[in-house]
Amino acid sequence: MRNLLKNMKIGLIDIDGHHFPNLPLMKLSAWHKRQGDTVEWYQPMFSGHMDRVYMSKVFSFTTDYTDCINADEIIKCGSGYCIDLVDGKEIYYAKRDSLLPAEIEHIYPDYSLYPELTIDTAFGFLTRGCPRGCEFCHVAAKEGRCSNKVANLREFWDGQGKIMLCDPNTFACRDWEDILGQLIESRAIIDFTQGIDVRLATPERIEMLNRMRIRRMHLAWDQPDQDLTEDFKRFSECYSRKSETRKVVYVLVNFNSTIEQDLYRIYTLRDLRFDPYVMIYDKKHAAQIYRDMQRWVNNRIIWRSCKRFEDYIA
Ligand code: SF4
Repeated sequence: MRNLLKNMKIGLIDIDGHHFPNLPLMKLSAWHKRQGDTVEWYQPMFSGHMDRVYMSKVFSFTTDYTDCINADEIIKCGSGYCIDLVDGKEIYYAKRDSLLPAEIEHIYPDYSLYPELTIDTAFGFLTRGCPRGCEFCHVAAKEGRCSNKVANLREFWDGQGKIMLCDPNTFACRDWEDILGQLIESRAIIDFTQGIDVRLATPERIEMLNRMRIRRMHLAWDQPDQDLTEDFKRFSECYSRKSETRKVVYVLVNFNSTIEQDLYRIYTLRDLRFDPYVMIYDKKHAAQIYRDMQRWVNNRIIWRSCKRFEDYIA
């Protein structure tokens, strides 16, 4: 409960570390500062007593914070706390009450929390939700199986030269034209950090991508049972940047796929002039062959000099 008589002392803990800005924390910080509260990173040795401490993590596998916290109230937030392991299996479900209230969710983020990571760069979501419902992904459980527009660009962008878009599936949103139009108009360099859905990449959508400033396009081919060769061919034909270094495709391995299926996707992408990027599901427990595959593909010097995985591991 907020004490209305005094400004609060608020502490923040980014459980994942400080490698990627934590959006919920940046929004909470902005909202509290607007109320006149003091906000700082929580440091057990130096912070003293806090009225409230927020802990946030994006990844469920990040080890939780175990140090003592000197605070009246501790609140956990972020996707990492919306996902649980049940009976040792990675079964995802969301606790909807862990979502931020609308007045905080839609506030301009406090980028000053991460000065180095946000130099001339904005981060945010224009859409939430995804109709695909991939088994390994928590988006459908957390945000629903429909991609909906949730913001305009100005909500989290104020003229920065680069925009890191965190949308799960922008192309699945019925307002895709409006959204892509806003990104084009911004003249900022756009990064679809979660990858776009190549199955929905029609020539009309790709034409809008061509008018956008994009250094490296991210796409995904995660499902081993879906042959997306024709979709990637279409993308290659319509997309104006032809170099493979500018078209990177996430390839999920170690989840319901055989090595043959993994290599089929990887070799097909190479033939079509895309650069695959191997992501290992449950890397902690993955067999060595997946780590070898990841190194062979993701280390671009090895990838360009050694064409066959069989030769790399020989
Ligand atoms: S397409 Fe992407 S965002 Fe959608 S459910 Fe699958 S992995 Fe998640």
